[in-house]
Amino acid sequence: MDLVVARPEGLYCPPGDFYIDPWRPVERSIITHAHGDHARRGNGHYLAAAPGEGILRSRLGDDIRLQTLAYGERLEHHGVTLSFHPAGHVLGSAQVRLEYQGEVWVASGDYKVEPDGTCAPFEPVRCHTFISESTFGLPIYRWPSQAEIFAGIDAWWRANAAAGKASVLFAYAFGKAQRILHGIDASIGPILVHGAVEPLNEVYRAGGVHLPPTRYAGDIARNDPLLRQALILAPPSAGGSTWMRRFGDYSDAFASGWMLLRGTRRRRGVDRGFALSDHADWPGLLWAIEQTGAERVMVTHGQVNVLVRHLREQGLDARAFQTEYGDEDDVEPSP
Ligand SMILES: [Zn+2]
Ligand SMILES: [Zn+2]
Repeated sequence: MDLVVARPEGLYCPPGDFYIDPWRPVERSIITHAHGDHARRGNGHYLAAAPGEGILRSRLGDDIRLQTLAYGERLEHHGVTLSFHPAGHVLGSAQVRLEYQGEVWVASGDYKVEPDGTCAPFEPVRCHTFISESTFGLPIYRWPSQAEIFAGIDAWWRANAAAGKASVLFAYAFGKAQRILHGIDASIGPILVHGAVEPLNEVYRAGGVHLPPTRYAGDIARNDPLLRQALILAPPSAGGSTWMRRFGDYSDAFASGWMLLRGTRRRRGVDRGFALSDHADWPGLLWAIEQTGAERVMVTHGQVNVLVRHLREQGLDARAFQTEYGDEDDVEPSP
């Protein structure tokens, strides 16, 4: 029996009568993490991992009917035993483990296998069937080490500050921005943030994640010399907006897994690209899938066909799941 099937509303568990990350409003939803394509408004009930509560409420509203479970804590619903396990993607992100009549399925949500210090590291969970994302499911996607990426960001910022230029770094406001704050050398200069970034910083700080002090970019006067030493973190949607004018002469950069491709860098029209992703790269996906011991793999998001074909060649029963998840690594969802 299939513990999860694809329905028009989202991924559905027939014996449990609930949905995982539904893209249309449903009565009972289980949410893997608070990115806009996985956590949507309008569901009757929400169930999520406890460390994600602050983010979910800040994005979906304080009035949602939300129940939370600690990682590893079990809940029984209609004979289905449910638990959340760290996915290493963003604060509060979880894989969902479902057990019913001896059959175990794990739905990964989005995941990253490298620990980054801003959320609980990915934990492989043994299962019969693994539902895996594949946002970067092509052999060309291999991330540089995090140390290398952060050294690159620091060097770019330092060189701009020495030249008296502001450094504007575009990054997704939830997850990526906090990872950058956590990983950079905050002694280089002041750090300013866009209004979309700071509320999420506050949730991370409240969750015990160390982030250096930040100030609202909007509070700094246009001609303040501080701007010329500053790193400014802004969501991609701020690019090309009038908000940017206050920075005068600046260098800009974009932090995203897609920056690995020269074509994407050119299309974005930024000075620099840093290939920092919150998703597993190709070796990471294959490692995670192997760790589950699953003989069946359902693939969602991204480069589904290439990964499915590769897994079949490895002797696994691999299939594609049609979903409406996007690549929030590159796209800013509407608030
Ligand atoms: Zn995500
Ligand atoms: Zn996703």
